[in-house]
Amino acid sequence: MNATSTAVVPVPVPPLALRAEGRAGAGVGAGAASPGPRVDSALTLLRDAAACGRARLSTSFGAEDMVLLDLVVRERLPIEVFTLDTGRLHEETYRLMARVEERYGRVVRSWFPDAGALQGLVAAQGVNGFYDSVAQRQACCRARKVEPLARALAGAQAWVTGQRAAQSVTRTALPPREHDAAHGLEKFNPLHDWSEAEVWAYLRAHAVPTNELHERFFPSIGCAPCTRAITPGEDLRAGRWWWEQPAARECGLHTRAESHPPAP
Ligand code: SF4
Repeated sequence: MNATSTAVVPVPVPPLALRAEGRAGAGVGAGAASPGPRVDSALTLLRDAAACGRARLSTSFGAEDMVLLDLVVRERLPIEVFTLDTGRLHEETYRLMARVEERYGRVVRSWFPDAGALQGLVAAQGVNGFYDSVAQRQACCRARKVEPLARALAGAQAWVTGQRAAQSVTRTALPPREHDAAHGLEKFNPLHDWSEAEVWAYLRAHAVPTNELHERFFPSIGCAPCTRAITPGEDLRAGRWWWEQPAARECGLHTRAESHPPAP
């Protein structure tokens, strides 16, 4: 498709269909799993990250990121926290940002896209050109996420993420720690082996604020035009770039040569 073709229309999902199946996918009815056994290993990885030197946690304010933010603040770990404000986030995410400020203080630094790069992008492919091809979607992710991420990580020795292996077919081989050659640092995934039920057990146990979109069956939340609710039995990240093939559904932030090629 080209930039003038008809855009993909988001497919709404009836929440009751998921509720009827007791689906834990959006953090609703996620069961009674105790996060306790996993917390110690996650804290060990967070401390390992901090020991590398300057460590930074990236957050998109999803459920996993909220677990890590709470652990970092609760344990007073010397890890800086940042988010990438793409300019296309859900209003619900901005509301959560404000609740995070109330609960933890202004601990999260926002990084924004370069204004000139965005002007060029929109002039070249239109405001919603990401629906038209994988290449245009990746160009948008580069301008709004990948390039700001490089600035956010500049000077850091460690990067902490909320990725879990069980989230997606693109993350099944996710290790607890890996070298990120693209950014020249060590990358830590402290929740790599957590289940979704364990994530939600932690959030509930500590009354951590969460994105209200989770209650509407958005287990994975990104930019508003590129995220939809999931249906019963779907991959937890099926709502991200749902019009593309599953193997292509990453934004280029997390590039691992052994699992999928980096975005061009
Ligand atoms: S998720 Fe969508 S709107 Fe956000 S940067 Fe990627 S293509 Fe652009």
